[in-house]
Amino acid sequence: MNRSSKRIYLSPPHMGEKEQQFIKEAFDHNWIAPVGPNINLFERELAEYVGSKGAVALSSGTAAIHLALRCLGIGNGDTVFCSTFTFVASANPIVYEGAEPIFIDSDLETWNMCPLALERAFIDAKNSGKFPKAVIVVNLYGQSANMDPIVKICEHYNVPIIEDAAESLGATYKGKPSGTIGKFGIYSFNGNKIITTSNGGMLVSDDIEALNKARHWSTQAKDAFNYYHHTEIGYNYRLSNILAGIGRGQLMVLDDRIKVRRKIFNKYFDELSNLDGIEFLLEAPYGNSNHWLTVLTIDPIITGTSAEKVIDLLEEQNIEARRVWKPMHLQPLYSHCKYYPHENSRSISDVLFANGICLPSGSNLTMEEQDRIIHFVKKEILSKA
Ligand SMILES: *Cc1c(COP(=O)(O)O)cnc(C)c1O
Repeated sequence: MNRSSKRIYLSPPHMGEKEQQFIKEAFDHNWIAPVGPNINLFERELAEYVGSKGAVALSSGTAAIHLALRCLGIGNGDTVFCSTFTFVASANPIVYEGAEPIFIDSDLETWNMCPLALERAFIDAKNSGKFPKAVIVVNLYGQSANMDPIVKICEHYNVPIIEDAAESLGATYKGKPSGTIGKFGIYSFNGNKIITTSNGGMLVSDDIEALNKARHWSTQAKDAFNYYHHTEIGYNYRLSNILAGIGRGQLMVLDDRIKVRRKIFNKYFDELSNLDGIEFLLEAPYGNSNHWLTVLTIDPIITGTSAEKVIDLLEEQNIEARRVWKPMHLQPLYSHCKYYPHENSRSISDVLFANGICLPSGSNLTMEEQDRIIHFVKKEILSKA
């Protein structure tokens, strides 16, 4: 292991200039609790940024998905369609509510939900007489899914969409901010996301009444009495006023972070895309990616090496690269659930998982560090060619 060089992380936090000032203000006025001006302002500023009517600041993106499902009345015995190619947090809240996920494959162009597979799932649902109560569409690696055909299918069957935009804050689809196309959208501010509050999330929607309910549930569903009075189940899901201060500072630099990540993507692309057997996840013509992570596939037959091997070799250089998400239908946790591949006998996400690799893409990555990464990837691929 090469310990002489500083470790290069996949996507580390990158603070701006204002975060500490907002935290200091919270300390100065003793707003340390999960209530206070930073929370209200963070909600307002994020809603303004993405152009939604409202927002609820929460302790995580997972909590935001959970409350979106609660808002839609998902419960025992219901089914929910969900992208298979995602992080497990997209699907787990379905089970929290006693419902069953049904997984939908990706398409090759966007790596996101495949409209063909979604259509087949809906036709089966229609034939069985049991429609899903919601569809969770995930926007992976900073890019929106191809929403028009997905929205068209869901509108036809009158089923609401929850957009898991945990990774795509700041991206657009046909000019519209990612996360604002479905009935609900969620963002995550976990440590490795494009902006972070260390832990945190946001639920957005144009349905203010639903958002007020979610805010109520997020603080233990205390009814308006002068003693503790409850009629519904609630959660301890509110974001703290301290962390909301970090979020406000981070939101101010989001556009800069996107610019830098785009530059990083372009450099990787210029240096590596002409190698045989390498395919980048490209920015789709329908919108802007926030380029959260640069991801690509390495074909083991053409290259003679593999994503796994390249990750191990980078690790020896103290560089953190990672495999892409392992699809939900391949997880022991969810292997009993129904799954709709791209075509009946062809699963796209299986291949993406086998060959995909995420390269370090943090906005604080230096040129020299990126040159080192490129050097070792190239060396491995060219040595086997
Ligand atoms: C990070 C992430 C989440 C979960 O967000 P947390 O804030 O970590 O709870 C959900 N979905 C996707 C696709 C993610 O990448």
